[in-house]
Amino acid sequence: MRLVLASANPDKAREIEALLAEATDVELLPRPPEVPDVVEDGVTLRENARLKARALAAATGEPAVADDTGLEVDALGGAPGVWSARYSGEGATYESNVAKLLRELEAVGARGVDRRARFRTVALVAWPDGAEVAAEGVVEGVIADSPRGTAGFGYDPVFVPLGPGTDGRTFAELDPGEKAAVSHRGRAFRALAAHLAAV
Ligand code: IMP
Repeated sequence: MRLVLASANPDKAREIEALLAEATDVELLPRPPEVPDVVEDGVTLRENARLKARALAAATGEPAVADDTGLEVDALGGAPGVWSARYSGEGATYESNVAKLLRELEAVGARGVDRRARFRTVALVAWPDGAEVAAEGVVEGVIADSPRGTAGFGYDPVFVPLGPGTDGRTFAELDPGEKAAVSHRGRAFRALAAHLAAV
């Protein structure tokens, strides 16, 4: 099976490529550079994943795969959630988003277990005829007091995953294989691969 990658973010693309290579015999085609950026104006992760996958399926005539991800922080009422990419406004960078997250948690006085959070990913394949298959992956964690580690991207330096197979390191302190084993994206794409095998 051939799938066009609908995600433009190279950091996500690297992880998706590795996850699909491990879980399926899918041939992943790069996102054609001439396809314009998709406006992600959905109000759910699934809507945004669908917008991206459908746009690439329509542009290429091939099924396309997208990922939309949000970081949900309990002490902030679930923010930044679906708005994780632009959390600190126009021109947001990974660093400015992390800085705003730490500031907001400081402002509400959230410490220790009160910094509970989760990453949620929806992985979705859309076919040119309108059919789609989707899967969700979640990883629970806490937001660290300050950034640690240099691997990964986005909020990885302040996200400490919890649960079996974790040891208190942030995602940015794990190598790519260690992150994929427990991450939201790893879980979403392994579930997606199982659905695709049944199609
Ligand atoms: P989107 O799915 O492209 O809308 O991603 C939303 C934002 O969430 C990205 O810009 C990153 O800042 C962040 N993000 C997505 N996936 C990850 C991840 O695996 N680790 C850390 N941050 C992530």
